[in-house]
Amino acid sequence: MNQTIQKTLCPYCRLETFVELPGDYAPVYVHCDSCKKKFIVERKIQGFKSFSLEEAPCISNPDCRDIEMGAADEQ
Ligand SMILES: [Zn+2]
Repeated sequence: MNQTIQKTLCPYCRLETFVELPGDYAPVYVHCDSCKKKFIVERKIQGFKSFSLEEAPCISNPDCRDIEMGAADEQ
């Protein structure tokens, strides 16, 4: 259960890269070792999922989640 370094395919260049999974189920940004682009990794009940920034739904995008959660205080 403490195996947090995983190999995944970069959604941009499709090369394998290592990612460090977050300790909880909140999505995080990671950077591809090959193309250096930023993408999103979200931990699932079993395993994890990687998204490009374009294909991630809002709930799986760290920035979008922040905006949604902060929207309530907007005045
Ligand atoms: Zn890449």
